[in-house]
Amino acid sequence: MNKKCMGVDIGGTSVKVGLFESTGELLDKWEVPTRKEEHGKYILSDVAASIRQRLAEKQIAVADLAGIGMGAPGPVLPNGFVEVCVNLGWKNLNPQEQLSGLLDGIPVRSANDANVAALGEMWQGGGKGYHDIVMVTLGTGVGGGVVMDQKIIAGQHGLGGEIGHIHVRDEETEVCNCGGVGCLEQVASATGIAGEARRTMAASDKPSSLRQYGDDVTAKNVLDEAKAGDAMACEIVEVVSRYLGLVLSQITMIIDPERFVIGGGVSRAGTFLTDAIERYYDKYTPISKQKASIGLAQLGNDAGIFGAARLILD
Ligand code: ZN
Repeated sequence: MNKKCMGVDIGGTSVKVGLFESTGELLDKWEVPTRKEEHGKYILSDVAASIRQRLAEKQIAVADLAGIGMGAPGPVLPNGFVEVCVNLGWKNLNPQEQLSGLLDGIPVRSANDANVAALGEMWQGGGKGYHDIVMVTLGTGVGGGVVMDQKIIAGQHGLGGEIGHIHVRDEETEVCNCGGVGCLEQVASATGIAGEARRTMAASDKPSSLRQYGDDVTAKNVLDEAKAGDAMACEIVEVVSRYLGLVLSQITMIIDPERFVIGGGVSRAGTFLTDAIERYYDKYTPISKQKASIGLAQLGNDAGIFGAARLILD
């Protein structure tokens, strides 16, 4: 019998949990609130209790699971050790050892949540059928994940896939969350696109449909108005797409994946956005026509539980 497995995606407000067949079929999913008080010491015991309860309802024994995979919002060392997770209050702990201890010692594996999401998209989402993918998540920040030969490349220091912090823009004056100045995240995240729109509006008196939103302008406003043909919005989308195309080209020259998967809230703009990115990607990668294709993520917020479950199947 194929054993079932579980994926746990630990976020700042809630923990998502999914029960899967080892073939990738999602059988059930639910959420547990993230209790962050006292440095997040209750998070894992809450998760373990919720898993026990749900499995009991389904008359599945803990021992019938192949194991549990987990994504955590911060750098995870190869042995599962987490030095710090700012969002959760965690410091110097090994959550995979702890969760395993709370659940009769079943196997638990963990990795960084952005990397895990990439693995999920490779398994059952926008990268299905490919073994070498790079995912770029355009959300509040820009996350990334590299999967080669169906395995996450987290690197020796947990920096593998930190695509959002590749330096792209010398003219930038503001400081990024990472301490850098001119990171991809500062221009291509939802926050970055909105900031770009404010700056572009302030830099001229040109008329634009973006002006109706004033300082509350969002990335979605920019993409919607660009689709509707507004010149200033189109100009901003070009800037954003150029930097993304540049970075995808650089990644191609280093690891030459099969597929780029673009996800996150900004990617809801769909092929309008990926077509623009692809134009610049092609421009900066003239060396060969044989290169990675660009597609959209498909699993949305479930990518984390899919990828976490996939972690345990190796
Ligand atoms: Zn940065």
